[in-house]
Amino acid sequence: MSVTAESVWNNCLSFIKDNIQPQAFKTWFEPIKPVKLSDNSLSVQVPSKFFYEWLEEHYVKLLKVSLTKELGENAKLVYIIRMENTYGNREPFTEKIPSSNRSTVSAQELDVPIKSKNPELRNPFVIPGIRNIKIESQLNPNYNFDNFLEGDSNRLARSAGMAVANKPGGTSFNPLLIFGGVGLGKTHLAHAIGVEIKDKYPERTVLYISAEKFTQQYIESVKKNTRNDFIHFYQLIDILIIDDVQFLSGKSGTQDVFFHIFNHLHQNGKQVILTSDKAPVDMQDIEQRLLSRFKWGLSAELQTPDYETRVSILKNKLYRDGVEMPEEIIDYVAKNIKSNIRELEGAVISLIAQSSFNKKEITIELAQQIVEKFVKNTKREVSIDYIQKVVSDYFEMDVSTLQSKTRKRHIVQARQLAMFFAKRFTKASLASIGSQIGKRDHATVLHACKTVDNLAETDKQFRKYIEDLTKKFS
Ligand code: ADP
Ligand code: MG
Repeated sequence: MSVTAESVWNNCLSFIKDNIQPQAFKTWFEPIKPVKLSDNSLSVQVPSKFFYEWLEEHYVKLLKVSLTKELGENAKLVYIIRMENTYGNREPFTEKIPSSNRSTVSAQELDVPIKSKNPELRNPFVIPGIRNIKIESQLNPNYNFDNFLEGDSNRLARSAGMAVANKPGGTSFNPLLIFGGVGLGKTHLAHAIGVEIKDKYPERTVLYISAEKFTQQYIESVKKNTRNDFIHFYQLIDILIIDDVQFLSGKSGTQDVFFHIFNHLHQNGKQVILTSDKAPVDMQDIEQRLLSRFKWGLSAELQTPDYETRVSILKNKLYRDGVEMPEEIIDYVAKNIKSNIRELEGAVISLIAQSSFNKKEITIELAQQIVEKFVKNTKREVSIDYIQKVVSDYFEMDVSTLQSKTRKRHIVQARQLAMFFAKRFTKASLASIGSQIGKRDHATVLHACKTVDNLAETDKQFRKYIEDLTKKFS
């Protein structure tokens, strides 16, 4: 009887089956397909990279013994990872992974973790000249736990972040969603978790990316017809950190692709960390199925810091920069900038810059001027809710009236103005603006913006509205 890949593998299987739990056999060995036998080397196909890693980690001895029995001392095992081809019509492709030397291999190199046979596998972060695909984490080492000061406002999020960093993928905080307003430390904390993981587990692949960049890469991949590669790339990540997921609102294609990547990572015990400016319940234009995933793990809020925390953040910053500043000035800044840590830091940096630039002493007066500028700037970060409120107040109506379906001219105009300002002062998409202002579609918003532009040119009274309202937002 001739020896084939099937026959060799079947013999291995019956040996393996006798030596492990039936459930484990079913899970880890039944899906393996023998593909090729040449000399003493057996190639088998496994469903994913994760699968391969699991086998190597847990069953390498068993595989070695069984294969040696069949093929002798020099037996080799070669894994072929089959990537699921669930998208598009392109040919599925395979990746070869040489088996580890811990396994049946005598002198195989396994420091090439993944070597694609497909020249088209595009890694958006590829580093030329390096043979294996190396994924740069894109982490900022300056954002770490040491300089992320703890306070009541961030204690839960910070400790959840620590727990995740200690055991990525191994806690119930998966995904970990960090949410909170602008400048409260979401990006800092997200990096800190990644930096800590890299430190503890250098071999794991960590990737930090903003949702905006993720979206751009995705759009690019669709244009270039490399959507599969995009997906496969992200499925290789062990710890995926996506910053500002609210950016995905209204972008259904990107949400869809993220949904698939998320599921793959989650199922394979990989860690996902997300940040957002809103809690999942308040997110607009994010598909329900994605929102429900976000809620699987833990949503931890970063709240506005209390006075003590603001003071200690300021002092820490000054200390690290080697700058001394009178207590009363620190106190003044901490008392007056309350809702945004970035601005707290910004004010101090301006103070230092101003005083050294003009060779002025740092005085309370200087601090007042600078703080005033910052506090004023804060108002500029307007939300769509705020815009609707201001416009409704201006026209003396309720927000619900402004949003209502009525065709009454003055209400329609108020609504159109709200849409116009939302377009002008926020980064929200037309679709997102529409759905937040009375559940309209993006075409309605576009029409509103054009109408306002037209009326501004032809109607003096209307121009006055725009001027008045613009002042309120700047
Ligand atoms: P967000 O992403 O929420 O808008 P960032 O993470 O960019 O906010 O934080 C804004 C600034 O505030 C950063 O310079 C960050 O280092 C600093 N910061 C935020 N939280 C803390 C904290 N707990 N301790 C020290 N610095 C902080
Ligand atoms: Mg941020």
